Amino acid sequence: MMEIIRIPRIMQETSRHYITKSKKLGFVPTMGALHEGHLSLVRRAKDENDLVVVSIFLNPKQFGANEDLSYYPKPIESDIEKLQSINTDILFLPETSFIYPTNFCTYITVQNLSDKLCGPFRPGHFTGVTTVVCKLLNMVMPSRLYLGQKDYQQLLIIKRMVEDLNIPVEIIPCRTIREKDGLAMSSRNSYLKSKERLSATVIYKTLSYLSNLIVEKKIPCHEVKGKMKEMLLNEPLIEEIQYASIYDPETLDELDNYKKVNLLAVALKIGNTRLIDNMIVEINSVVV
Ligand code: AMP
Repeated sequence: MMEIIRIPRIMQETSRHYITKSKKLGFVPTMGALHEGHLSLVRRAKDENDLVVVSIFLNPKQFGANEDLSYYPKPIESDIEKLQSINTDILFLPETSFIYPTNFCTYITVQNLSDKLCGPFRPGHFTGVTTVVCKLLNMVMPSRLYLGQKDYQQLLIIKRMVEDLNIPVEIIPCRTIREKDGLAMSSRNSYLKSKERLSATVIYKTLSYLSNLIVEKKIPCHEVKGKMKEMLLNEPLIEEIQYASIYDPETLDELDNYKKVNLLAVALKIGNTRLIDNMIVEINSVVV
């Protein structure tokens, strides 16, 4: 039976109980509206640890004033069923007031990396993410933290925080799970109307087409951004491309020349829905 814990102090006591028994805890933080992407992280955490803890917490501090906090999907009953069906050991389901009591005033910001890519379009977002992840890590005290590469910048920022603050947890990056047509799974995909859902497939098509061109050395680095935008804008329902280019996967700076490992990343809006995706492209020699 899956245990549901709602109080941070009880979560800590429970974790401490297992840690003193030398049990390894794997932890998967989520905002709920669970899909196969989330569940793949939970399965992996289950495989690699003695117990898996999943948190569902819709963190208000990572949403801007004009963002989708109020209409973010909250299918808690079906989330619980999904987690039970894959033998999750503990669901940590805290109330907002337990995470942010009225006198709360401490924030964690990872500088530099938080200003790149999504940063300018979502002011304060990554500070909200790092603050809540740090708090959750202090409550769950896991050996391993499972994060999706779908949110590549988030993964990189959390890695930096864990290193900079000496947080004793191992980060396990997990590959992006996609729908059959390549669209990266996301709780926000449910916002897409059927025509928008169809046009969203251009994101994966563009990323995979360019990845292949790069690997086959058929496109110079300085042409990647232009080609990417051209392909995306070919799709009439895509109104706003926030960024789309090739980046250094460690610094998130845009690249003029290929590195051995490169990051193709994109954020755009279809109607009111903001979608992000990325692909890591490794090349053997960097002569293109
Ligand atoms: P969220 O609920 O959106 O905060 O996501 C919780 C975790 O699931 C994060 O580590 C995400 O990167 C990860 N995740 C979200 N979508 C996917 C996906 N399609 N494939 C793999 N991991 C994902």
